[in-house]
Amino acid sequence: MRYISTRGGIAPIPFKATVMMGLADDGGLIIPTDIPAVGEDTLERWAHLNYRELAFAVISLFADDIPGKELRGLIDRSYSTFDDKEVTPLRKVGKLWIMELFHGPTLAFKDVALQLLGNLFERLLEERSGIMNILGATSGDTGSAAIYGVKGKERIRIFILHPHNRVSPVQALQMTTVPEENVFNIAVEGTFDDCQAIVKEIFNDLDFKARHHLGSVNSINWARVMAQIVYYIYAALKLWHEEGAKAVHFSVPTGNFGDIFAGYIAKRMLSPLIKRLILATNENNILTRFVVEGRYAKGKVVPTISPSMDIMVASNFERYLYYLYGEDPARVRKAMEEFAAAGEITFSQEELGRVRSDFASASIDQEETLATIRDVYREGDEGYVIDPHTAVGVAAAKRLMPHLPPGETVCLATAHPAKFPAAVRKATGREPKRPAALEGLEGLDPRFVVMPPDVNKVKNYIVEHGLKGP
Ligand SMILES: *Cc1c(COP(=O)(O)O)cnc(C)c1O
Repeated sequence: MRYISTRGGIAPIPFKATVMMGLADDGGLIIPTDIPAVGEDTLERWAHLNYRELAFAVISLFADDIPGKELRGLIDRSYSTFDDKEVTPLRKVGKLWIMELFHGPTLAFKDVALQLLGNLFERLLEERSGIMNILGATSGDTGSAAIYGVKGKERIRIFILHPHNRVSPVQALQMTTVPEENVFNIAVEGTFDDCQAIVKEIFNDLDFKARHHLGSVNSINWARVMAQIVYYIYAALKLWHEEGAKAVHFSVPTGNFGDIFAGYIAKRMLSPLIKRLILATNENNILTRFVVEGRYAKGKVVPTISPSMDIMVASNFERYLYYLYGEDPARVRKAMEEFAAAGEITFSQEELGRVRSDFASASIDQEETLATIRDVYREGDEGYVIDPHTAVGVAAAKRLMPHLPPGETVCLATAHPAKFPAAVRKATGREPKRPAALEGLEGLDPRFVVMPPDVNKVKNYIVEHGLKGP
């Protein structure tokens, strides 16, 4: 398998090179030259595999420059940290299917990709005797999942910026109480946007980036998308095999369009079994307006009770545009320029028709999110509790299911409710049960430095504490 850029400006490269490149060197996003189609025979075979075996079958199609035995080892190691042997178990709650993606070490779906990415980085750095200083910004979940993906790894140090006093207490403790010495938390006296702007500016200093071997863990990395394709296929095949489902829809709480883009690739691979992707947004609904109105236009970010979806510009959207535009990089480039200049891209009726055959979408406000947590708690078996991100997806599914072709609908549970106890208490009157991973967190010593939103101060900190290359 070879990989190219959505903007057409890089020569085709193999998988390993995409992991190290992160963002394509021409500013575009990396995508495979073709999407493997999966025949009925293969489906039959895959339906009998457990999660890890299926992960190997799917990932080896994309990561074909890693020898099989090694890839198996990487996958086993990455998913041995999950506390459910099914990795992403599917549960029936009332009339809904819920796929629990929060059984990894930091209790959010980002672990599924970042546990693997951490091990991939380690392996590839060993191979080339390299080192890496990872730099990232987080509004909560990415930071801890990335830290847990690379903590203690010899050739890696990780620097994560978060807005000081503006992430949830649980999220802050998860990031800052990790004892491993290769982990550096920087609490920026500012907003998440300040953090992200600093990180972007540093990555744009190509000299600095090369000199200090900077690496990226955000969802523009193709390996993250690839790891997430697996659970869509896993759930679809389970429902096909065990429930006789002829069509499966997925409802995906969406921010950066990373998770749902993985669903789009899975849909292409498993067509026609995976039918429709429900793109669920909170009040930050640029993507819902895209599906419903055919306009992709910047808005203003408002803070919500599902903070990991409070995003204005979805970094992975460009990958979908590439396919919507018939794999034409020149059109993608033009659209992205248009978006940068006018803050908006509009679409033809024909394009919109195709968008709507892939996606249905709804935007769910705070009130409905809380009501949905309460309803599922009351209707579900044994008082099943969902987190506010998952609730946005469940609410969108309930609203849109009557308008979809017949089939089963799977709602992705993207975070464990114990990560967002305040919203859960408000909705159900009770604190969610705390899993072992969060026990005793308050008793640990947080380690972080506080810094003003100043690019040079952050750079100096990386120079001082980062690994030095040969
Ligand atoms: C990151 C995140 C999302 C959004 O996922 P995207 O890939 O950015 O669309 C949804 N829910 C939770 C809990 C998250 O951490």
